[in-house]
Amino acid sequence: MEIVAVSALRDNYIWVLCEGRHCVVVDPGEAAPVLGLLRTRDLELRAILLTHRHADHQGGTTELLAHTPVPVYGPVSPAMPGVTQGVGEGSEIVVPGLTMPFQVLAVPGHTEEHIAYLRGDALFCGDTLFAAGCGRLLGGTAAQLSASLQRLAALPARTRIYCAHEYTLANLAFAAAVEPANSQLQARRQHCEALRAAGQATIPSLLAEELATNPFLRCTDKRVVAAAEKQAGHALHGPVEVFTALRKWKDQF
Ligand SMILES: [Zn+2]
Repeated sequence: MEIVAVSALRDNYIWVLCEGRHCVVVDPGEAAPVLGLLRTRDLELRAILLTHRHADHQGGTTELLAHTPVPVYGPVSPAMPGVTQGVGEGSEIVVPGLTMPFQVLAVPGHTEEHIAYLRGDALFCGDTLFAAGCGRLLGGTAAQLSASLQRLAALPARTRIYCAHEYTLANLAFAAAVEPANSQLQARRQHCEALRAAGQATIPSLLAEELATNPFLRCTDKRVVAAAEKQAGHALHGPVEVFTALRKWKDQF
């Protein structure tokens, strides 16, 4: 299986999974670059997977369907009328023509209905977990997003994180403000700056590096707790309060 990053809109990645000539597209925010890839690589679209309601994740669906009518998997939500196969926590998706199924995980928080897709070691998590960061609260609660991130953090450390935006450098700048003494974080920042200077994507990342450098997955680390308390101006009790303070801090960063 090959996973191709299609750059779209301003800073979105649309992920296209290819097995032979068959492919599946995750979160097509626009159709044109996907159709371009299908044409140049002579690929046959088999399914569309959507993670959540935002237009930069589902906006290209109608145009892709006009080109090739395929099933559209996604959350059951009135905000996502294009979904033809509603899925949720525990669903398993078998796409004809592809060998391995997708597992569905409910990961509410960025939005209420947000889901993620796990296929082997590849996690397609939309706007829930980003490289060195996480999504904003645009419908769900901090407690929901905190629990969703803890759940993703418990996946095998070798899991590759295919998130939907190239936000990594901005996220790393915030992470460095939270944990200035984290040497792995400094090394990651240098590496990602070099990648971006060379015009390359910083995604996918490895869950192991997120666990070591992403402050939103480190809400029980003493240094992260201390930084969040200093910013909040009072004591914080437990990982959800620390997460909430970090998210608020990042919103203003
Ligand atoms: Zn979103």
